[in-house]
Amino acid sequence: MTQTTNIPQLRGLSLQELTALCIELGEKPFRAKQLYEWLYLHRIASINEITNLPSKFLEKLSSIPVSTLTLGDVSESQDGTKKILFTTASGKSIETVIIPSELVGEDNNPKRRTICVSTQIGCALDCKFCATGSMGLLGNLSTGEILDQFIQGEHVAGTKLTNLVYMGMGEPMMNYTNVMKSVDVLTDPTNDMLGPKRITLSTAGVVKNIRRMADEQRKIKLAISLHSVHNHKRSDIMPINDSVPIEQLMETVEYYYCQTRIPVTYEYIVFGEYNTSPADIKRLAKLTRRVPSKVNVIPFHDVDFVRNQADGPALSSATQEQFDNFVYALRAEGVTVMARASSGKDIHAACGQLALSKGA
Ligand code: SAH
Repeated sequence: MTQTTNIPQLRGLSLQELTALCIELGEKPFRAKQLYEWLYLHRIASINEITNLPSKFLEKLSSIPVSTLTLGDVSESQDGTKKILFTTASGKSIETVIIPSELVGEDNNPKRRTICVSTQIGCALDCKFCATGSMGLLGNLSTGEILDQFIQGEHVAGTKLTNLVYMGMGEPMMNYTNVMKSVDVLTDPTNDMLGPKRITLSTAGVVKNIRRMADEQRKIKLAISLHSVHNHKRSDIMPINDSVPIEQLMETVEYYYCQTRIPVTYEYIVFGEYNTSPADIKRLAKLTRRVPSKVNVIPFHDVDFVRNQADGPALSSATQEQFDNFVYALRAEGVTVMARASSGKDIHAACGQLALSKGA
């Protein structure tokens, strides 16, 4: 496995780390707070934009870039979804997606603009339906690289972003420290970015860190990629299920809910017959009743991406009728179901698809 090393950059450093840097550079510690504001409230792209710090200090700082992520192609879907390709300092591609909500406000603009950020370059989990999974893990993104997707994404959107989901490339719970450091900056009210309830972390089920997040009383939302409710089938499409079976995952979800009292979201890709039988529906409904929750039912994006059938079961998209019937039956069981039209399908805005097609 090739691990990339993150190049140092200013954005991503906590106030404590900036204070240590100021001391190291022979500056007064209080300068750190000013620098912190420039990085996260004013969201500068370069040191040259700073107006209230001594030029000697700025000179010393200029050897460290503010940000190392380079903005690449931006493609826009007919539904307004924007997909951004970034290149890291190590020359790897990552992707970020901005999704406007279908609901519009009084000003006729979408009520929400959600940014979907990547947390790793590639992914180690090897889920059989996921394009990122076929890349293997190339490295973790730094806190700064995660935050820069939000900050540069806001420029691309040309307006404030209202929500953030850790649902791009990678498994956020396998890059826990950097992801949580990015949460700390995003939810620091002095930065005027996002409230914790507007942030969702999606995981395939890294239970140790779901517990840790609950214990740390982080008030962000949790989403669980479920996709099947039977261990043998879930293991066939999500190898993590071999080490964390559904029972253990559900116990951890209960623990998370008991600690935080925040309702949980389950993600469920509809794969035609594979996971939509009456037995699947009954069991899914039963599982979701364990804590207050909703289910996001997702169409399978299989555009431009065919995985080796020997490497997992043959998966196909559901027909519109299968999809609608599944949603209807699940609702009839009393489950709260969110079923959205597939966003950005024409620009390959599904996990890992663009970066993969560019040969990340
Ligand atoms: N590793 C984390 C977050 C990244 S994946 C997780 O597993 O939750 C984000 C979401 O996109 C997950 O629910 C994932 O299952 C879904 N996804 C991945 N590939 C997809 C595809 N081809 N079509 C539809 N959804 C997909």
